[in-house]
Amino acid sequence: MIKAIRGTRDLLPPETALWNFVEAAARDVFRDYNFHEIRTPVFEDTQLFARSVGEETDIVSKEMYTWEDRARGQSEKGQSLTLRPENTAGVVRAYIEHKMWERPGVQKLYYLGPQFRRERPQKGRYRQFYQIGAEVMGPPAAGSESPARDAELLEMLAALLDRLGVDGWKLELNSVGCQHDRAIFEAALRKALKPVVSRMCADCQRRAVTNPLRVFDCKVPEDQPIIAGLPQIADYLDEGCRQHFAEVQALLNELEFPFVLNGRLVRGLDYYTRTAFEFTHEALGAQNAILGGGRYDGLSEALGGPKAPGIGFAIGEDRLVMALEESSGGIVKKPDAYIAPVGAGMNGHAARLARELRRHDLVVELGDESFRLKKSLETASRIGARFAIIVGENEIKADQFALKELSTGQQVAVSRAELVGKIQGS
Ligand code: AMP
Repeated sequence: MIKAIRGTRDLLPPETALWNFVEAAARDVFRDYNFHEIRTPVFEDTQLFARSVGEETDIVSKEMYTWEDRARGQSEKGQSLTLRPENTAGVVRAYIEHKMWERPGVQKLYYLGPQFRRERPQKGRYRQFYQIGAEVMGPPAAGSESPARDAELLEMLAALLDRLGVDGWKLELNSVGCQHDRAIFEAALRKALKPVVSRMCADCQRRAVTNPLRVFDCKVPEDQPIIAGLPQIADYLDEGCRQHFAEVQALLNELEFPFVLNGRLVRGLDYYTRTAFEFTHEALGAQNAILGGGRYDGLSEALGGPKAPGIGFAIGEDRLVMALEESSGGIVKKPDAYIAPVGAGMNGHAARLARELRRHDLVVELGDESFRLKKSLETASRIGARFAIIVGENEIKADQFALKELSTGQQVAVSRAELVGKIQGS
């Protein structure tokens, strides 16, 4: 038997109703904040991720699905392509490619879609997973660097989580400074790591040489006390970054927005600058990060574009749905009516009636004239329909149908004209 690939999964009804609910709420909230949708390809030039996410990150060094495309000519080498492990790089590439900075104001873009990483699958971690994300970017003159953008984005996320009824989330906030601060911090970190690194995990030993900041991504429990003793980036911020971070916090306080500072939060990707954040959720267990994001003021330039500071986030939709699953009883729409054709020649009449009801936005399921009435009524109950409507020869002649409320067993005769009102009014 052929099965879905490890780390991928099928999303089936009724769970898909929850996914649609989440996506519809996200689109609604994004609209209120004047964000617009962008759709970028699922695969891109491998270089895009190497240059933005960073060669030394776990994502680029070991988790990407990369392949060489078939060469077009004999002399040509195939291009290296990669399934996107995240969507910010694609959005920024599109921003540059379509000269979106020529549009007025800042660009506020959102996306929804699958991302791919060859991570070790476990609860809450998949190899094809889904993200809902948004980016705000533009020329500095359009206000893209302002702490007001950071606060607006964070406030939008709270609005979305509230709209979905997710409570128990926590915002962790840090500033990772700019390239200059990072260079000084990195030197201090290397020095601090020297005497302790031999006691750390193999990944950390590698990171300490290639990209010491990534040591903060380590999840190995034995390494945590060592990591807790390392210097923190917050103590290395220059005046501009310190001021920016203070203003973000002041705005959040003004909005009465709860957050905690986490000096060890550095985020997994190289392109982040200044504000970095993560929302966690208590119900999720080990993989408790529901979303993450931050500023990336130099990313556009790193990809050959103009100066275009920006800030964005990505929500892990799989995890958001998991956090919602417990409280989601009422989301799935059950059929309003099940139409039971009784007797030969009734399928057509039943189909016509179904069409009329569906035009009024009712959810209708259809039986078959070959079923006995008992079987139809049982099926109607099993699928959770509220009413069964019996369509037989007598009903057609009288233009009046037997409407049976399945929860009570009560049955009344209702004329065709009154049927919709009767079902909707109940
Ligand atoms: P990142 O792009 O790594 O900053 O991740 C943003 C969010 O996506 C995380 O907070 C998770 O909620 C989610 N996420 C990342 N990787 C996975 C994965 N392999 N499976 C499920 N969700 C993920």
